[in-house]
Amino acid sequence: MSFQNPVFIPGPTNIPEAIRKACDMPTIDHRSPLFASILHPALDGVRAVMKQTAGETFIFPASGTGGWETALTNTLNPGDGVLAARNGMFSHKWIDMCQRFGLDVTVVDVAWGDGLPAARFEEILRADTQGKIKAVLATHNETATGVVSDIAALRRAMDAAGHDALLFVDGVSSIGSMDFRFDDWGVDVAVTGSQKGFMLPAGLAIVGFSDKAVTASKSNTLPRTFWSIDDMRKGYEANAYPYTPAVGLMNGLKLATEMLLAEGLDAVFARHARIAAGVRAASFAWEMRPCATSPDLYSNTVTAIRTPKGFNASDIVSHAAESYGMAFGTGLGDVAGQVFRIGHLGSMTDAMALSGIATAEMVMADLGLPIQLGAGVAAAQNVYRYGSTADKMAAQ
Ligand SMILES: *Cc1c(COP(=O)(O)O)cnc(C)c1O
Repeated sequence: MSFQNPVFIPGPTNIPEAIRKACDMPTIDHRSPLFASILHPALDGVRAVMKQTAGETFIFPASGTGGWETALTNTLNPGDGVLAARNGMFSHKWIDMCQRFGLDVTVVDVAWGDGLPAARFEEILRADTQGKIKAVLATHNETATGVVSDIAALRRAMDAAGHDALLFVDGVSSIGSMDFRFDDWGVDVAVTGSQKGFMLPAGLAIVGFSDKAVTASKSNTLPRTFWSIDDMRKGYEANAYPYTPAVGLMNGLKLATEMLLAEGLDAVFARHARIAAGVRAASFAWEMRPCATSPDLYSNTVTAIRTPKGFNASDIVSHAAESYGMAFGTGLGDVAGQVFRIGHLGSMTDAMALSGIATAEMVMADLGLPIQLGAGVAAAQNVYRYGSTADKMAAQ
């Protein structure tokens, strides 16, 4: 029974039936022309979704974390400087990975709920007159807090500082759901995975490299084997892999990109914006606020909702699972117990979102929170009936 409910965790996301079928295929020879007819359209599709025309794109049999490692190990040297802000669990984990690789990370700690501090980055880059910082890390959408950061502003800050560090962007919970502009934003490495906006099971790390990042890979010295983009490129040139690819997932990815492009990227982004506005309207109706500290930071893929002081937000997640067979996300790290998360990305409709909002209301009422049943549902219904202008009203 519970399997029939959509999930509201911010990844893995719900899988459309057609994509599930596309992943379920008989074994094929992964060094055959048949594999080439999956590989190249999947790569082209991903490039179209992340608006990448320059550089190269690679797909590893891994999760998003492998994409982070691909970015670092193919471009940097031991001891290189890296600049990153920590505003949630995912940015924290990428920083931790850098440190484990012996990189010299300048960490800017900001409140969980805030975005990346572009102005502060600009100051730090200006002060780095010796060019010790080789890469700037940015988590486009911090999934732990539901905060989207302005990558275009970060690029402008880097340019204003006249600094030539590489720009690495974690787009795992944004690409395919919110606008992502690899070329326009001057992204050097973009990282995503299969299990969020691409509506697939986990199992693919998807990584875009700019020409500048590819050039850096020619002479950098951090070791890599599994993550080598050189080996991967050689594989692709022979319509193959340096090892065994996840063929079924790649066939699913090919279809997922076709579906996103057929819906139209602008329509996909508008759908996510509308659904998110409804979820936020519900949270305001419950007299709760998003963890994101201002409207420009509100994520359209996940909303972390702050519960009243003294209440353990994780109880919502466990009670929803036990009593209603529905999955929401818990608070992580600094905001554990203070927020619960509603993931609303990927294969999601207004009606699906309403079922999650309605269930969250039952759960919170069961747990004794002062929730009037139907209040959040009605607020979201008003957004879904009247469309995007209601977004502005709801955000007040
Ligand atoms: C999900 C996620 C990741 C990657 O996690 P994996 O479990 O390795 O796929 C990285 N960054 C963000 C922002 C994410 O949401």
